[in-house]
Amino acid sequence: MYSAPYENDPVYQMAVKQLREAASILGLSEDVVEALSHPEKLVQVKITIRRDNGKIATFIGWRSQHNSALGPYKGGIRYTPNATAGETVALSMWMTWKNALAGLPYGGGKGAVRVNPKELSQRELEELSRKYFAAIAKEVGPDIDVPAPDVYTNPQIMAWYYDEYSKIVGYSAWGVVTAKPVELGGLQARVISTGYGVALTAREAARKALGGIEGKTVAVHGFGNVGMYAAKYLAKWGAIVVAISDSKGYIYDPKGLNIDEVIKVKEQTDSVVNYRGGDVKVSNNHMELLELPVDILVPAAIENVITQDNVSRVKAKIIAEGANGPTTPEADKILHNKGVIVIPDILANAGGVTMSWIEWAHNRMGCYLTDDEAIARLDEIMTRNFHKVFDEWQKKYSTYPMRMAAYAIAVDRVVKAMKLRGWI
Ligand code: NAD
Repeated sequence: MYSAPYENDPVYQMAVKQLREAASILGLSEDVVEALSHPEKLVQVKITIRRDNGKIATFIGWRSQHNSALGPYKGGIRYTPNATAGETVALSMWMTWKNALAGLPYGGGKGAVRVNPKELSQRELEELSRKYFAAIAKEVGPDIDVPAPDVYTNPQIMAWYYDEYSKIVGYSAWGVVTAKPVELGGLQARVISTGYGVALTAREAARKALGGIEGKTVAVHGFGNVGMYAAKYLAKWGAIVVAISDSKGYIYDPKGLNIDEVIKVKEQTDSVVNYRGGDVKVSNNHMELLELPVDILVPAAIENVITQDNVSRVKAKIIAEGANGPTTPEADKILHNKGVIVIPDILANAGGVTMSWIEWAHNRMGCYLTDDEAIARLDEIMTRNFHKVFDEWQKKYSTYPMRMAAYAIAVDRVVKAMKLRGWI
């Protein structure tokens, strides 16, 4: 059996464990699991830049291309001090499942550079970004592999990637990266897309299980890019957002919070706890928010907040995971047994990559979309896909938590494509 250098990485091992669980639900054989456990290609590159002080600095980066059965690889590039080859491979595998589950014509990829970007000047960051992308230029392309931002990368860095790649290939390759600045073919609506998608999946689950979203109470844990727009759209669609937290604490008003006012307070004072109005109660313990008597809970901050310790006190009937990994596997099973619908991160927070596909598709046709058109398209795609996944879960995998069903559905879609292509 092949032994790869990333196999001892704990994040990679976790990804393979999840794959194995999905494979056992599907009854996949060991040889197929083995084929899915490894990336099709893993590229390691060395990047040297000239620091502002005249010294040379060396960085290691990767691009992992996990699976392309459904289309070009797609996934972000992160700049973090602890990045490893194993983590990059694991994240690329998760992108394969996420893109397949979202119903997008993409495989899965992920990139990383081991660097603390906060220690670089803007010029050094630009040199690093251009050299990293030049080093992987032969591996990417609008029909091959389409990166996007991830942790500590942003639209400006995408603009440098796009420019560097376009110079190398000799044409304006709009479709080589997504989440570009609006001036370079990006979409303004990208900013809201993950939060919008989270709200949308909660809305559709409420239609299925609670008779609709109107009048249902919501608590949102974390009020950054994801939580803010999830709260905004849920309120817009008639839900009553009663509680919101950030790292400093939470605010709670059973009659409902004014979201636009909360956004203003967050932007002006850096924390929602400075919000005043109505009968609002303020607490500095943001974890209490998870246990409030609400219909819908949106964890949108960090991982592992719903655990064996607090799950018995969680009262929500629907949990829409905006954050990655907010529920531990043990808590997930307990919630499932209690009849709580946990819309897994892999499904609920796919709005960003879905909007990326919308950007990519229109870039390739050479046309722009208005914000309203892009959002309408996102809503249509995600709503249709949510119901497909939900119905398949109910029909075929209802003894498992929705998360396991989601993994099974995603792996099944990839395996079917591999079979049709004659790979397995
Ligand atoms: P963000 O930095 O904009 O906001 C994070 C929010 O969580 C802030 O309100 C912050 O105060 C709060 N927070 C941070 N640490 C906390 C702690 N220890 N306890 C309680 N609250 C804390 O981040 P974001 O982009 O909104 O991402 C949130 C989550 O969603 C992350 O898990 C991220 O991986 C995931 N996610 C984001 C996107 C995206 O497009 N932004 C896409 C998919 C998944």
